Amino acid sequence: MLVTALLSVAVAAVASAPDESWPGGDPTVNPGTDFFLFANGGWLKENPIPADRVGFSMATLLSISAASKVRALLEEAAATSAEQPVFEPGKVGAYYAAFMDEQRVEFLGATPLDRSLRQIRQASSREELARLMGHADSSFHGSLFKLWIEPDSRRPERYAIYLGQGGLGSLDRDIYLAEDAAELRDAYRQYIARLLSLVSWDNSEAMAAQVVEFETQIAARSWTAADERDESKIYNPTGIAKLAGETPEFPWRAYLQGANLASAGTLIVVDRSAVPALAGLYSKTPIAVLKAWAALHLTDDAAPFLSHDFADAWFDLHGRRLQGAQIQSPRWQRALVQVSGGGSKDLDDSRGAMGDAVGRLYTQRWFQARSRETLRVLVDELKTTLRATISASAWMSAGAKAEAFKKLDVYRVEIGAPEHGDEYPGLVIRRDDLFGDVERATAYAWRQDRDRLHHPTDRARWTMTPQTVNAYNYAPFSEVVFTAALLQPPAFDPTQDSALTYGGIGAIIGHELTHGFDDVGRRFDATGHTRDWWSTTDNAHFAGNAATLIALFAGCEAAPGVHVDGHLTLGENIADIGGLQLAFAAYHASLHGRPAPVIDGLTGDQRFFLGFAKLRRGHRRSQALRTDVTSDPHTPDACRVNEDVRNVDGWYDAFGVTPASPLFIAADHRFVLW
Ligand SMILES: [Zn+2]
Repeated sequence: MLVTALLSVAVAAVASAPDESWPGGDPTVNPGTDFFLFANGGWLKENPIPADRVGFSMATLLSISAASKVRALLEEAAATSAEQPVFEPGKVGAYYAAFMDEQRVEFLGATPLDRSLRQIRQASSREELARLMGHADSSFHGSLFKLWIEPDSRRPERYAIYLGQGGLGSLDRDIYLAEDAAELRDAYRQYIARLLSLVSWDNSEAMAAQVVEFETQIAARSWTAADERDESKIYNPTGIAKLAGETPEFPWRAYLQGANLASAGTLIVVDRSAVPALAGLYSKTPIAVLKAWAALHLTDDAAPFLSHDFADAWFDLHGRRLQGAQIQSPRWQRALVQVSGGGSKDLDDSRGAMGDAVGRLYTQRWFQARSRETLRVLVDELKTTLRATISASAWMSAGAKAEAFKKLDVYRVEIGAPEHGDEYPGLVIRRDDLFGDVERATAYAWRQDRDRLHHPTDRARWTMTPQTVNAYNYAPFSEVVFTAALLQPPAFDPTQDSALTYGGIGAIIGHELTHGFDDVGRRFDATGHTRDWWSTTDNAHFAGNAATLIALFAGCEAAPGVHVDGHLTLGENIADIGGLQLAFAAYHASLHGRPAPVIDGLTGDQRFFLGFAKLRRGHRRSQALRTDVTSDPHTPDACRVNEDVRNVDGWYDAFGVTPASPLFIAADHRFVLW
C-alpha cells in the first residue's frame, strides 16, 4: 500500500500533444529515436556545463543543494572553532578554516613537504623505499600497492586486510596504453617535470620521462576495472609468509611494517597476477627512478593543500587537461570536499576527513524524520513487488526462488543517517596547519581501520556519509542504504504526482534492491556469504541474458568514438533495468485498477518514464566521458536512459514506439531478469 502523502491530487487536464508539455524536453526529437533527448534536450540546452565543472546533471543540482547546506554548517563551525577546539564541531570548523586560510598556505610554500621529501632522498635501498610505501595510508607517500581494511567479503562477520595493485599516477590505466593518447601522456610528463622542479629534484626533465615509462609498465601489468568486478577472481586469501616466499622480489615485511601491519597473518590479494608482476617490475627498476616516482606521488598527492604554484599545476593537469574543466572550483568547495566528503561524480566521492562528524551536524539540522517513514513505505512496496515478480519468474528454479525470498526477507533498509558513525576523539586539528591536518586525519582513519581488525564487523557503520547524495546496496551485510541528502527534491518529493515518484525515487529503490541479484550480488546468500545457490539451468539462463545485455550496451556511444564497456557496467545495467521494471509494476499496483489521471496532457505511464529520464538528466565533457567508460561501472546518462527504457514493455505503449523506431527491440529480445 502506498502512503497517501505520496499521491498528489489528480488534475484532469485538456489533452495536448505529450511532447509539448514536458518541461525540459525537446519536442522536435522522436521518443523512439532518442528518448533521453526527447525528455531532456531542452534542459541540456538551458544548462550548459559551468566552466569549473566537468559535468552538470540532476545529481550535480542535488549535490549543490546539499553542499550549500554543509557550507553553512562549516562556516558557522569555523566562526566558533577557536572557543572549543577539542569538541567535534570545533574541530570540523578548524579544519575548514585551515583550508580557507590561503595566506598561511602561501606563506608555507613547499615547506610542509620537507620531512617526507627528506625521507625519500635518504632512502638508499628498495627495502627502505618499500617501508615508506607502507606509510601510504597514513601520510602523503605513494605506493606500488594498495592496502585497505573492510569486511571480509566471504566472512562478513569479521574484517580483512586487502592487497591490490597500485602505483599508477594521474592517468587512467587505459590512457597509459592507448595509441591515440600520446598527447595526454606528454601533458602528464610535463606536469611531472613541473612538480619535480618545484621541489628541486635533480634532473627533473629526464626523470619525468622515466617515471612515465615506469608507470606505463605498471599499467601494462594492471587489471582493468572490468576484471576487478569478478568476485571469483579477486578473492585470494594469502598468508604473508606465502606471499613473501612466492614473490621475493618485493620486500613485503618492510612494507607491512611501514603500514603497522607487521603482525598480520593473511591478506586477501585482489589482482592475483598483477601483484607478482608489479613486484618483479619493482626489483628491476633503478632506484633513482623509484625515488623520483616516490617524490612525484608525494607531491601530486599533497599539491591541492600547498601554495598556488602546486595547486595550479595540479588543476592544469587533473582539472583542465584530463577532465576538461576550464576554471578551478571555488576554494570553499574544495575545502568542503576535503572536510565533509563529496556528493556526485564531479566532486570527490570519499568520506571526507571528518565526514561522519559533518553528517551529524547535517542530519540534526536538515534531515526530516518523517522523510524516513515515507521512504520506508515505498521501499516496502517495491520489496513486495520484487517478491511477486520473482515468484512469477518463468525460468527460476523453485530452490533459487526460495533462497531469493530468504534474501529479500533479511534486507536491512537504512534511511537518512547511520545509527552511529565514525568518531574522532584523539584527532588533533590545527587552524594554522592544513597539510598537517590532512596528514593526521589520514593517519587517524588508518589507525581506526587497523583497530577494527580486532572486533566483529560494525553493521551500523555506513560506507557513505549522510550528506552524500547517493544510495547503495552492500551484499555482505544484506543492506540497502539511502542517504539523507538523496531525500530532497527533485529526487524525493512527497508532494509531487505519484507517477513521477515511482519513475524517480521508485526506480532508484528498485535499482538498489535489484543489485542483490545482479551478476555480483547474486553470488551472496541471505547470510551475506558467497555461495552458489542457483541451479545449473538458472546459471545458464542468467549467463545468456547477461551476454545479451553486455552486447546491447557495448553498442552505445557515450560520445563520438567513446563506447560503453558492457562488461564493466553489467551490474549497474541489470540494476537499472530490473529497477525500472519493478518501479513500473509497483506504480501500476498502486493504482488499484483505477485509470491513472492525465496531467498536463501526459498519461500516467508517460509521466513515469519521463520522470525516470528527468532524474538522469545530465552531460559530461568528452574528456571526462573517456575516463568514465573505462573506470566507472555506471553507464553514462544518455546511453543509460535509452538502453533502459527500450527494455521495458510499457514504454512502447506509452510513446507509441513501433518496429520502425531505432530504439525498438522485439518483445522476446528485451532483457527480463526474472
Ligand atoms: Zn548501482
